[in-house]
Amino acid sequence: MSGYKKTTEKAYEILRDYDFNNLTIGTICSHSFLQISKGAKDEGFKRLGIVVRNTPDKKKKFYTQAFRETIPEHIIEVDYDKEILKPYIQEKLIEKNTIILAHGSFVERVGGKELLNKFYVPTFGNKRALPWESDRKLERKWLEGAGLSMPKKIKSPDEIKGPAIVKKHGAKGGKDFFVVKTREEFYKRKGGKKYDPENFDIQEFVMGTRYYPHFFYSPIQKNSPKNIKGYEAGKGILLLMSIDRRDETTIDEVQRLGSIRELEEANIHPTFVVTGNVPIVMRESLLPDLFCKAEAVVEKAEELFGGIPGAFCLEGVEDENLNYITFEISARIVAGTNPYIRGSPYSDFIAKNLSTGRRIAQEIKFANKKFKKENNFDIWKEIIS
Ligand code: AMP
Repeated sequence: MSGYKKTTEKAYEILRDYDFNNLTIGTICSHSFLQISKGAKDEGFKRLGIVVRNTPDKKKKFYTQAFRETIPEHIIEVDYDKEILKPYIQEKLIEKNTIILAHGSFVERVGGKELLNKFYVPTFGNKRALPWESDRKLERKWLEGAGLSMPKKIKSPDEIKGPAIVKKHGAKGGKDFFVVKTREEFYKRKGGKKYDPENFDIQEFVMGTRYYPHFFYSPIQKNSPKNIKGYEAGKGILLLMSIDRRDETTIDEVQRLGSIRELEEANIHPTFVVTGNVPIVMRESLLPDLFCKAEAVVEKAEELFGGIPGAFCLEGVEDENLNYITFEISARIVAGTNPYIRGSPYSDFIAKNLSTGRRIAQEIKFANKKFKKENNFDIWKEIIS
């Protein structure tokens, strides 16, 4: 039996024994914990926060004192991130009837492979999406298979003929990415001809404006003639929750020091490390196309690996011909939703005070209600793995 199957089947066995009147939503205190926690409270759940003990930045103090509405009822302390995988920690989570939300930091710190193979606490979303979003080849197969345009892949540095972005495999949050315009520049940055294509993904640098639209897909909520809940996609509905643009240092402000050419001559190169998120809306006429793309992505995910229930973000660039070129998908809640705790210019059209964190809690609540009413466990299999 594959690791995924083993952990997911075990998660279902565990979930069957949960006290469904006393569910807890839990995650690592970081990334989007504050909105997840507030959203869970607003929907009547208990909260559980995992913090790493003795961190120099006093995480525990921050998460248990700074913002009253977000303070979790339960705290679990670990000595290091991967300790979460140890059975004695997983059992503590299970004791509290916890459903885990694996946000970006959770996946990064605990590890995608480890989550698939070793983590059996019921987890919101489909863990099978993890390799599809983290492996650039699989990601391309998924998105291009759904008919989306992606930046052209440059097979070898010798084919660089214009602005290209070089993504080191495994580099997180844009760290260690660099931009080059010629093959010579590439080899100069790499320090000679040594080049292992397995270590890099080189792609066309797409000129345009960046958008990071946050979607939510529910396979379990459906429209009826009397009650339209959302845009039909896959088995259920698709919602646009919000859009942000990332603040990336130093690329976003590097020009304050001089022109890029001057800086490069001084051996100063821009970087893409995320430091914040800025709210934004898109020109309205561009939205229908974005929805078509998100719908296709949802349906392709269903075909390839059983779907992407929950939040996802389709990160891309709108070019000057108004084509949306997607450079990345995140199949989970992203930190770009954080400016929208009380809703966004899009979620306000759906419901009041609706953050993505709160929408996730609503999905769990909806599944629980339906499960209790129909006494059919299968509903959980649509949103938990
Ligand atoms: P990623 O880790 O793929 O989300 O990329 C990190 C950042 O690099 C993005 O937020 C963009 O600012 C930038 N970026 C990535 N791919 C491209 C591309 N093909 N063209 C232009 N900018 C890109």
